[in-house]
Amino acid sequence: MKCKRCDTVNEHDSIFCKKCGKKIELNTYCVKCNKKLNDDEIFCTQCGIENVEVIDLESNNKKNAGVALLIIVVITLFLSFITFAVNNI
Ligand SMILES: [Zn+2]
Ligand SMILES: [Zn+2]
Repeated sequence: MKCKRCDTVNEHDSIFCKKCGKKIELNTYCVKCNKKLNDDEIFCTQCGIENVEVIDLESNNKKNAGVALLIIVVITLFLSFITFAVNNI
């Protein structure tokens, strides 16, 4: 079992990483369709979804949403600056 946080290879039946202490056990049931998963199944054999670190994925999405919002704000400010500059020529 390879740790998803630090990539340390642990014994196959390890539940926690020997190096960083992160839980490396995979989800037992698919997060999407609730199919029972085997230990070595990272992707669900029924719906194809990846069953690792759902919480981390959600926080990454929130981070990406924050960056997207920031870009939109910057573009809006830039466009209003251009409009302001053009009107004052
Ligand atoms: Zn680790
Ligand atoms: Zn599934």
